[in-house]
Amino acid sequence: MESTVTVSPRGEERIRNGHFWVYRTDVASGQAAAGAVVRVVDRAGGFLARAFFSDKSQITLRVLTRHDVPVDRAFWRSRLEHARAFRSKIRIDANAYRLVHGEGDLMPSLIVDRYGDCLVVQALSQGSDRALPEFVELLAELERPKGILARNDPKVRLLEGLDQQVSVLYGHVPERVTVREGAIEYDVDLAKGQKTGAFLDQRENRLAAVQYVTGRTLDCFSYAGGFALQLASVAAEVTALDISEDATAMLARNAARNGLANVHARTTNVFDELRLLDRQGERFDAIVLDPPAFAKSKAAIPKALSGYKEINLRALKLLKPGGMLVTCSCSYHVNEATFAEVVFDAALDARAEVSVVEKRMQSRDHPVVLGMPETYYLKCFILRKLA
Ligand code: SAH
Repeated sequence: MESTVTVSPRGEERIRNGHFWVYRTDVASGQAAAGAVVRVVDRAGGFLARAFFSDKSQITLRVLTRHDVPVDRAFWRSRLEHARAFRSKIRIDANAYRLVHGEGDLMPSLIVDRYGDCLVVQALSQGSDRALPEFVELLAELERPKGILARNDPKVRLLEGLDQQVSVLYGHVPERVTVREGAIEYDVDLAKGQKTGAFLDQRENRLAAVQYVTGRTLDCFSYAGGFALQLASVAAEVTALDISEDATAMLARNAARNGLANVHARTTNVFDELRLLDRQGERFDAIVLDPPAFAKSKAAIPKALSGYKEINLRALKLLKPGGMLVTCSCSYHVNEATFAEVVFDAALDARAEVSVVEKRMQSRDHPVVLGMPETYYLKCFILRKLA
């Protein structure tokens, strides 16, 4: 029997305004099993939505549909088919991309990434965790992968009372797969790499950056070389910086695999290195800043903003006039306007005249939900230093 959950007028308003989440404080009454699909009603008993129920998280309800239809296998199959159709429509020039992006594909808290022949899934709430066996069956049927790996190790699962684990759910998953992005091939460690193995959300920004880069290039926070490898074909040389030795080792292997002799990876702290490069009087034609999310919570915002300002200020000083800056923030607590302000502040302090060439966001296979501004988490500005 389907359980019913009644929401407060504020919860009702959120749902009507296109938001997918209803917090515990906006639930008036009703209980259900962990991860069950529930019927959500207003205080008069009128149908509002069907949603995943969580008995642990502050996010009690995640809306699945605002139509009164059953959430069954056919429902999920159709959602997956829509997600797949969109990926083929946008003609992705890579065989590693996001197939399902949670709310952005109307499958809240479910992530599915394709890496060549393998799929990597993440269930980030009790609801998607409970439905995961069904998702795996459907994915195996529709996508015919060699294997499906669950990267259920993100910390957010703890907020749902779920454990953290990495396990093969279907077929065979090799430790490392080689994938293609544009003209570049790179290795991905599916079980241990960051996120589900790589930063797929930057794919289109990397390809866009290629249009503007020439000369001496610096890739800060390079990880396994997402930007550096793409830019090496148009730059005279690329210096890639990352604090993780594993990342720079992987980057060096990826550069060798692509025959790119002009990429140099250094294991170092970007904050220190930018200062050092400035003292040494080094100058660059292009710089990429792709730091990790500095603001992981609301409380961390002020410190995050000073971090963003610091690296942008240093980078703008290191750029030659006419040089290009690709600067990113993936903190969803820092919106586009705030990020733009920080970069502007940095330009003022660096006494740099800067023009905006492009304002970009996460790749199109990570859709932003119009009613949920926080799903626009990745901002990427391509700027030109005029003088
Ligand atoms: N640009 C990459 C993704 C970067 S993810 C791509 O396109 O694939 C952020 C990276 O920053 C991680 O690899 C992390 O190891 C690194 N990092 C975090 N703090 C750092 C610091 N202070 N100095 C240098 N690297 C840092």
